[in-house]
Amino acid sequence: MSDDEEELLAGSDDPPFDENDTGADIILRSNDGEDFYIRSALLTMASPFFARLLLSLRSHYRGPRGLPIIELAEDGESLQQLLLWCDPRAVPSWELDDIELALKSAEKYEMIGTKRFIGEMLGKLKEYVETEPLKLFAIAVRHRIPDLALIAKETLHHPLDGREYVPQLGDISGAVLHRLQEYYFCCTRTAIEVVERLEWEQRPFIWFEGPLVPCLCEYEVGQNHARRSKWWGDYMQRAKTALRLRPRGRTVLNLPSEIAASALELATLCLYCGGRAYADLQRFNVSFSNEVENAVDAVVCEFDL
Ligand SMILES: [Zn+2]
Repeated sequence: MSDDEEELLAGSDDPPFDENDTGADIILRSNDGEDFYIRSALLTMASPFFARLLLSLRSHYRGPRGLPIIELAEDGESLQQLLLWCDPRAVPSWELDDIELALKSAEKYEMIGTKRFIGEMLGKLKEYVETEPLKLFAIAVRHRIPDLALIAKETLHHPLDGREYVPQLGDISGAVLHRLQEYYFCCTRTAIEVVERLEWEQRPFIWFEGPLVPCLCEYEVGQNHARRSKWWGDYMQRAKTALRLRPRGRTVLNLPSEIAASALELATLCLYCGGRAYADLQRFNVSFSNEVENAVDAVVCEFDL
């Protein structure tokens, strides 16, 4: 390589991989010509691939300070993201796209510990877990992240009808996607079963108290002569509709305020129920939410990776 060509190559501008690291003993060169000054001991510990490569390192290009240069197939951005996870002096990026780049390279270079660490962090990225669980799920499947079930559970917040395509779905099989859809429907059925059990289960809430009290609410009668206030029955039907789309406990707590308002408005027409309906509905919702969540937790995801 001529001196002119050498000058065209850019070194990493970011510490600790720039030329100021006097402890660096090798240079990793990306396919777009970016040089990373690296301490080989770090790579040897993190990657059996690099351990073998460095053992067999003979005559390569020599760069500044006579350091051997290893040319790699990755671009500078991919290498940067990977190395940030390998060096304790560095702070890795928490952007999902950056993490994905790091995971791909970690897998290629057999960095099992690094990959596991990144995977554990992936499931804890609250922002992405809530906003882009499908993308996260596809990444987790591709890289066999152990917390897959937790991430799959987060996809339940996104109704199947309306989920947007993400390019990462191209990396997983149709079989896994089918399993994810089966899981969604199974959780939906489970959540509906909770509603159907609770809506007639006589518990100490005001909507079950008639006719032994002076309740003037319109009421409904179910099997075994069970009786409930109609406003509460309507509320449960709306909760069921919401859970059919998003089968999670949080759905109950996040029901649109107009649903509760509509139920409570009718309850306040009754002198007996009006004073207690709000408190009882709040108390019920906490228990309702927990029961939905526990039931969904019991649904087994079998993705057969
Ligand atoms: Zn009443």
